[in-house]
Amino acid sequence: MITHLHPDHCVDLMALRVYMVWGPGAGRVLTVHGPPGLRERLMAFSGSYGWDRAFDFRELAAGEGQIEVGDGVVVRHREVPHLPPTHAVRVEHEGRAICFSADCGPNQALVELARGCEVLVCECSFGAERVPEGVPHLDARDAGAMAARAGVACLLLVHCSPEFDREAALAAARDAFGARSHGPARRGRDRVNWFRTRRRPVGRRAMVIAVVLSLLLRGSGTPTRSTCPVRSCGSAARSSSGWS
Ligand SMILES: [Zn+2]
Ligand SMILES: [Zn+2]
Repeated sequence: MITHLHPDHCVDLMALRVYMVWGPGAGRVLTVHGPPGLRERLMAFSGSYGWDRAFDFRELAAGEGQIEVGDGVVVRHREVPHLPPTHAVRVEHEGRAICFSADCGPNQALVELARGCEVLVCECSFGAERVPEGVPHLDARDAGAMAARAGVACLLLVHCSPEFDREAALAAARDAFGARSHGPARRGRDRVNWFRTRRRPVGRRAMVIAVVLSLLLRGSGTPTRSTCPVRSCGSAARSSSGWS
Protein backbone atom coordinates (compact mmCIF):
# COMPACT_ATOMS: atom_id res chain seq x y z
CA MET A 1 0.00 0.00 0.00
CA ILE A 2 1.45 3.34 -1.07
CA THR A 3 -0.23 6.35 0.50
CA HIS A 4 0.94 9.05 -1.92
CA LEU A 5 3.48 9.92 -4.58
CA HIS A 6 6.08 11.78 -2.55
CA PRO A 7 9.35 9.87 -3.01
CA ASP A 8 9.96 9.22 0.68
CA HIS A 9 6.82 7.06 0.53
CA CYS A 10 7.38 5.11 -2.66
CA VAL A 11 11.01 4.93 -3.85
CA ASP A 12 11.71 1.81 -1.78
CA LEU A 13 9.77 0.00 -4.47
CA MET A 14 12.80 0.51 -6.72
CA ALA A 15 14.90 -1.78 -4.55
CA LEU A 16 12.00 -4.18 -4.16
CA ARG A 17 11.68 -4.31 -7.96
CA VAL A 18 15.24 -5.68 -8.15
CA TYR A 19 14.36 -8.31 -5.56
CA MET A 20 11.22 -9.27 -7.42
CA VAL A 21 12.71 -9.39 -10.92
CA TRP A 22 16.25 -10.67 -10.39
CA GLY A 23 16.28 -11.84 -6.78
CA PRO A 24 14.45 -14.38 -4.64
CA GLY A 25 11.08 -12.92 -5.63
CA ALA A 26 11.55 -13.73 -9.32
CA GLY A 27 8.54 -15.39 -10.87
CA ARG A 28 6.09 -13.85 -8.45
CA VAL A 29 4.02 -10.71 -8.81
CA LEU A 30 3.29 -8.48 -5.84
CA THR A 31 0.06 -6.50 -5.73
CA VAL A 32 0.63 -2.82 -4.94
CA HIS A 33 -2.26 -0.50 -4.16
CA GLY A 34 -1.52 3.18 -4.59
CA PRO A 35 -2.69 6.50 -5.96
CA PRO A 36 -3.25 6.99 -9.69
CA GLY A 37 0.03 7.64 -11.48
CA LEU A 38 2.21 5.57 -9.15
CA ARG A 39 3.39 3.17 -11.88
CA GLU A 40 4.21 6.02 -14.24
CA ARG A 41 6.00 7.98 -11.50
CA LEU A 42 8.24 5.02 -10.68
CA MET A 43 8.99 4.41 -14.35
CA ALA A 44 9.88 8.08 -14.74
CA PHE A 45 12.39 7.69 -11.92
CA SER A 46 14.14 4.63 -13.21
CA GLY A 47 12.90 3.46 -16.61
CA SER A 48 10.11 1.08 -17.44
CA TYR A 49 11.93 -2.24 -17.36
CA GLY A 50 10.70 -4.84 -14.92
CA TRP A 51 7.95 -2.96 -13.16
CA ASP A 52 5.12 -4.95 -14.69
CA ARG A 53 6.96 -8.22 -14.08
CA ALA A 54 7.36 -7.38 -10.41
CA PHE A 55 4.12 -5.64 -9.50
CA ASP A 56 0.43 -5.59 -10.20
CA PHE A 57 -0.41 -1.91 -9.70
CA ARG A 58 -3.95 -1.14 -8.60
CA GLU A 59 -5.33 2.35 -8.14
CA LEU A 60 -6.93 3.38 -4.86
CA ALA A 61 -10.52 4.51 -5.17
CA ALA A 62 -11.02 8.25 -5.02
CA GLY A 63 -12.07 9.63 -1.65
CA GLU A 64 -12.23 6.42 0.33
CA GLY A 65 -12.43 2.69 -0.16
CA GLN A 66 -12.01 -0.80 1.20
CA ILE A 67 -9.75 -3.63 0.04
CA GLU A 68 -10.08 -7.30 1.01
CA VAL A 69 -6.47 -8.43 1.22
CA GLY A 70 -7.19 -12.05 2.14
CA ASP A 71 -6.99 -14.20 5.28
CA GLY A 72 -9.52 -11.91 6.89
CA VAL A 73 -7.41 -8.79 6.58
CA VAL A 74 -9.31 -5.70 5.45
CA VAL A 75 -7.66 -2.42 4.50
CA ARG A 76 -9.71 0.75 4.62
CA HIS A 77 -8.34 3.96 3.22
CA ARG A 78 -9.49 7.55 3.21
CA GLU A 79 -8.16 10.69 1.61
CA VAL A 80 -6.46 13.20 3.88
CA PRO A 81 -5.12 16.71 3.15
CA HIS A 82 -1.60 16.53 1.72
CA LEU A 83 -0.33 15.99 -1.82
CA PRO A 84 -3.60 15.13 -3.62
CA PRO A 85 -4.47 12.33 -3.43
CA THR A 86 -3.00 11.04 -0.17
CA HIS A 87 -4.74 8.23 1.71
CA ALA A 88 -4.52 7.32 5.38
CA VAL A 89 -4.81 3.57 5.91
CA ARG A 90 -6.55 1.37 8.48
CA VAL A 91 -5.72 -2.35 8.64
CA GLU A 92 -8.25 -4.59 10.38
CA HIS A 93 -8.18 -8.24 11.38
CA GLU A 94 -10.63 -10.08 13.60
CA GLY A 95 -12.09 -6.88 14.99
CA ARG A 96 -8.77 -5.26 15.84
CA ALA A 97 -7.12 -2.48 13.91
CA ILE A 98 -4.10 -0.27 13.49
CA CYS A 99 -4.09 2.95 11.48
CA PHE A 100 -1.41 4.92 9.65
CA SER A 101 -1.93 8.63 9.11
CA ALA A 102 0.20 8.89 5.94
CA ASP A 103 1.37 12.49 5.65
CA CYS A 104 -1.37 14.99 6.37
CA GLY A 105 -2.43 18.24 7.92
CA PRO A 106 -4.97 18.25 10.78
CA ASN A 107 -8.21 16.71 9.61
CA GLN A 108 -11.38 14.95 10.69
CA ALA A 109 -11.08 12.13 8.15
CA LEU A 110 -8.13 10.59 9.96
CA VAL A 111 -9.90 10.89 13.32
CA GLU A 112 -12.85 8.95 11.90
CA LEU A 113 -10.70 6.36 10.14
CA ALA A 114 -8.64 5.72 13.26
CA ARG A 115 -11.64 5.56 15.60
CA GLY A 116 -11.12 2.89 18.22
CA CYS A 117 -7.86 1.54 16.81
CA GLU A 118 -5.38 -0.11 19.10
CA VAL A 119 -2.49 1.81 17.58
CA LEU A 120 -2.35 5.00 15.53
CA VAL A 121 0.97 5.36 13.69
CA CYS A 122 0.99 9.10 13.10
CA GLU A 123 3.31 11.52 11.39
CA CYS A 124 4.62 14.51 13.37
CA SER A 125 6.90 16.22 10.89
CA PHE A 126 7.45 19.32 13.01
CA GLY A 127 7.97 17.84 16.44
CA ALA A 128 7.08 20.38 19.12
CA GLU A 129 7.33 23.30 16.67
CA ARG A 130 4.12 24.60 15.19
CA VAL A 131 3.43 23.77 11.56
CA PRO A 132 3.78 26.88 9.39
CA GLU A 133 0.62 28.23 7.85
CA GLY A 134 -0.42 26.33 4.76
CA VAL A 135 2.00 23.40 5.18
CA PRO A 136 0.09 20.08 5.07
CA HIS A 137 1.83 18.26 7.92
CA LEU A 138 1.33 17.66 11.64
CA ASP A 139 3.24 18.66 14.72
CA ALA A 140 3.34 16.63 17.91
CA ARG A 141 0.41 18.47 19.49
CA ASP A 142 -1.71 17.84 16.42
CA ALA A 143 -0.80 14.15 16.45
CA GLY A 144 -1.60 13.80 20.15
CA ALA A 145 -4.88 15.70 19.85
CA MET A 146 -6.07 13.67 16.87
CA ALA A 147 -5.15 10.42 18.61
CA ALA A 148 -7.15 11.51 21.65
CA ARG A 149 -10.17 12.44 19.53
CA ALA A 150 -10.00 9.09 17.74
CA GLY A 151 -9.91 7.25 21.06
CA VAL A 152 -6.96 5.07 20.12
CA ALA A 153 -5.21 3.11 22.83
CA CYS A 154 -1.68 3.85 21.69
CA LEU A 155 -0.04 6.59 19.62
CA LEU A 156 3.21 5.91 17.80
CA LEU A 157 5.01 8.90 16.27
CA VAL A 158 6.88 8.69 12.97
CA HIS A 159 8.17 11.02 10.24
CA CYS A 160 9.60 13.64 12.60
CA SER A 161 12.10 15.83 10.82
CA PRO A 162 15.53 15.52 12.49
CA GLU A 163 16.15 19.21 13.14
CA PHE A 164 13.41 19.36 15.78
CA ASP A 165 13.90 18.58 19.44
CA ARG A 166 12.90 15.04 20.16
CA GLU A 167 12.24 15.31 23.88
CA ALA A 168 10.11 18.40 23.38
CA ALA A 169 8.10 16.54 20.75
CA LEU A 170 7.52 13.66 23.14
CA ALA A 171 6.31 16.02 25.85
CA ALA A 172 3.98 17.91 23.51
CA ALA A 173 2.42 14.75 22.11
CA ARG A 174 2.07 13.22 25.56
CA ASP A 175 0.25 16.26 26.89
CA ALA A 176 -2.11 16.50 23.93
CA PHE A 177 -2.85 12.79 23.95
CA GLY A 178 -3.28 12.56 27.69
CA ALA A 179 -0.93 9.61 27.82
CA ARG A 180 -0.35 7.76 31.06
CA SER A 181 2.88 6.14 29.97
CA HIS A 182 5.30 6.55 27.11
CA GLY A 183 8.50 5.34 25.39
CA PRO A 184 10.86 5.68 23.59
CA ALA A 185 11.86 2.13 22.94
CA ARG A 186 14.92 1.25 20.95
CA ARG A 187 14.80 -1.01 17.93
CA GLY A 188 18.14 -1.21 16.24
CA ARG A 189 19.37 2.25 15.36
CA ASP A 190 15.94 3.81 15.21
CA ARG A 191 13.97 5.11 18.11
CA VAL A 192 10.29 4.37 18.22
CA ASN A 193 8.30 6.77 20.31
CA TRP A 194 5.04 5.57 21.68
CA PHE A 195 2.37 6.68 24.09
CA ARG A 196 -0.33 4.72 25.80
CA THR A 197 -3.51 5.56 27.58
CA ARG A 198 -5.03 3.30 30.16
CA ARG A 199 -8.39 3.42 28.48
CA ARG A 200 -7.90 0.03 26.86
CA PRO A 201 -5.13 -2.55 26.75
CA VAL A 202 -3.00 -2.73 23.63
CA GLY A 203 -2.56 -6.17 22.18
CA ARG A 204 1.04 -7.30 21.89
CA ARG A 205 0.52 -8.39 18.30
CA ALA A 206 -0.91 -5.01 17.29
CA MET A 207 2.01 -3.24 18.96
CA VAL A 208 4.57 -5.45 17.21
CA ILE A 209 2.92 -4.88 13.83
CA ALA A 210 2.80 -1.14 14.42
CA VAL A 211 6.46 -0.97 15.44
CA VAL A 212 7.52 -2.96 12.38
CA LEU A 213 5.36 -0.72 10.22
CA SER A 214 6.91 2.39 11.72
CA LEU A 215 10.42 1.10 11.07
CA LEU A 216 9.56 0.41 7.46
CA LEU A 217 8.38 3.98 7.04
CA ARG A 218 10.92 6.60 6.19
CA GLY A 219 11.48 8.85 9.15
CA SER A 220 10.51 6.30 11.76
CA GLY A 221 10.63 7.59 15.31
CA THR A 222 12.29 10.90 15.96
CA PRO A 223 15.90 9.93 15.35
CA THR A 224 18.89 12.17 15.68
CA ARG A 225 20.26 13.97 12.68
CA SER A 226 22.97 11.36 12.24
CA THR A 227 20.63 8.37 12.20
CA CYS A 228 17.55 9.77 10.49
CA PRO A 229 16.86 8.08 7.16
CA VAL A 230 14.68 10.99 6.07
CA ARG A 231 16.37 13.05 3.44
CA SER A 232 13.50 14.37 1.41
CA CYS A 233 11.84 15.72 4.55
CA GLY A 234 15.01 17.43 5.78
CA SER A 235 15.77 21.10 5.45
CA ALA A 236 18.08 20.74 2.44
CA ALA A 237 15.53 18.89 0.34
CA ARG A 238 12.72 21.07 1.62
CA SER A 239 14.33 24.24 0.39
CA SER A 240 14.65 22.90 -3.12
CA SER A 241 11.76 20.57 -3.69
CA GLY A 242 8.97 21.43 -1.28
CA TRP A 243 7.41 19.30 1.44
CA SER A 244 7.19 15.56 1.34
ZN1 LIG B 1 4.32 13.54 1.72
ZN1 LIG C 1 6.67 12.07 3.87
